Amino acid sequence: MAVIDGRQTDLGGGMMIHRILPSRLQRMVGPFIFLDHIGPVQIAAGQKTDVRPHPHIGLSTLTYLFEGRQVHRDSLGIEQVIVPGDVNWMTAGRGIAHSERAVPEDRSQERSFHGLQFWVALPDETEDQDPSFVHYPKSQIPELVFSEYSAQIIVGKFNGTSSPVKPSSEMVFVNFKTNTKCKIQFEYPEFELGVYLISGEIKVKDLELKTHQMKTFTESGEVEASAGAHFILIGGRSFQTTRHIFWNFVSSSPEKIEAAKAAWKNRTFPQVPGESEFVPLPEK
Ligand code: MN
Repeated sequence: MAVIDGRQTDLGGGMMIHRILPSRLQRMVGPFIFLDHIGPVQIAAGQKTDVRPHPHIGLSTLTYLFEGRQVHRDSLGIEQVIVPGDVNWMTAGRGIAHSERAVPEDRSQERSFHGLQFWVALPDETEDQDPSFVHYPKSQIPELVFSEYSAQIIVGKFNGTSSPVKPSSEMVFVNFKTNTKCKIQFEYPEFELGVYLISGEIKVKDLELKTHQMKTFTESGEVEASAGAHFILIGGRSFQTTRHIFWNFVSSSPEKIEAAKAAWKNRTFPQVPGESEFVPLPEK
């Protein structure tokens, strides 16, 4: 159990993020090994925020936006605009490269951006699988609307409702917004769980969270929220084997990470069609 403070970082071009995972206090929450909370930011007209092509192995990226939009391109040749409420689920498996760029007609305008990007580690059995990309439009993501709160069930189950998103292992991701003061119970046997506060006031298992903090726990818990709170629940079954992480690579095997580093450096890694820029391999 931990209370993790998101660390604020400027990714460049005023793209302010809070990085919650991995943390010194807890590397993973179930299969979740990385979490960036992006914004909310106002991006000035003409400001460049594009993420140039870069590689991944051994993980799935899960992108979910609250405001703004961006275009995803990958080495499978897929091009997809993501808007708030949609889910982009990209599985790297043995290797994928992608870029995430502003939509061309948005570039000349001031715009707001707010979202989450997760990495979930792939289980041993599937970490070398073929890469894939699945887009789920907002209309496919179940939403529960009560007088006290609303919940989008983005991955897994909540309150008897299941998401159609096909996860890489057993997990949950739910987005909550409250209308009134209320209590919400969670019950997920054998799951590691985390509640992360985006805005407003909540208590998780009687502990008051600050904005950009995540409290982790196991199996069950209760959130006591004020009106107008926005928070997420994530979690899942933990892995029996260790995950290594270097830059954008996750693997059960240090050798596979070394091979991916070499492939990106010598340009034998799959490339994104139509893209000539790329993010170079960092030294460390
Ligand atoms: Mn990426």
